[in-house]
Amino acid sequence: MIRRTVYNWGTDLVRLGFPPSCRSCSHHLPFEGWKNSSPPSNHYSRFLCRLCQRQFQSLPALHRTTDDENGRLWVRFPYSPFIRGLIHQAKFDPNRDLLRMFGVELADLLLKYCPASDFQWSWRYIVPVPPSEETSRRRLLNQTLIISRAIERSFLAHSPNPPFTNCSVLNCLTKSSAYKPQTTVSKEKRVNAVAGAFALRNLKQSSCLKGASILLIDDVVTTGATLKEATKLLLSFGVRRVDRIVVAQA
Ligand SMILES: [Zn+2]
Repeated sequence: MIRRTVYNWGTDLVRLGFPPSCRSCSHHLPFEGWKNSSPPSNHYSRFLCRLCQRQFQSLPALHRTTDDENGRLWVRFPYSPFIRGLIHQAKFDPNRDLLRMFGVELADLLLKYCPASDFQWSWRYIVPVPPSEETSRRRLLNQTLIISRAIERSFLAHSPNPPFTNCSVLNCLTKSSAYKPQTTVSKEKRVNAVAGAFALRNLKQSSCLKGASILLIDDVVTTGATLKEATKLLLSFGVRRVDRIVVAQA
């Protein structure tokens, strides 16, 4: 306890000299936003200035949803320059707090739109769509896994009902390094480019997947080819339903 207090005061003192800046516009953050000794009232104030917080909070609660035969796709944000900048910071800086904030946003959306009494939404596993092994080695983190864990924690904290509290992260997919993001190629080529990109991390996990309902997590969806390919693999292992949620759609 005493050690914690000393640590909090120490980091606050250091940050007084080198104040952290807003992740969106690079302005210095006000002291009450980042002090450790008494945590701020909202989780945005750790990395967004007041102006950017207001911009963030004014965004609609849901960008759009699409249904298909395998389940539903939720998109939390439009890919506006503001959101694109934040995702870029979160992934390439990289910033775990920002990734967790996206996770909390996605969980809030699901808690709002999926009544826990409806067993359609009783997902057994939250499965992150992984970056390629080479990418996650280079960045030293797996951003979709961090987002997924934040969703799991939020479900546990907010939902007293069984459907959401039974849901846990299963990091069962791997993506071969041969498949790199190809933002410049055409839609048809992208579909072909991701074919066969995913595999199960450990074949023993296939027994957990049989009959399970999955919530698949990704950060940005462009053509949807990557999500479709991951869904196809999960279904081939006997998964019953694959719902998907993404931070933004480009
Ligand atoms: Zn700002």
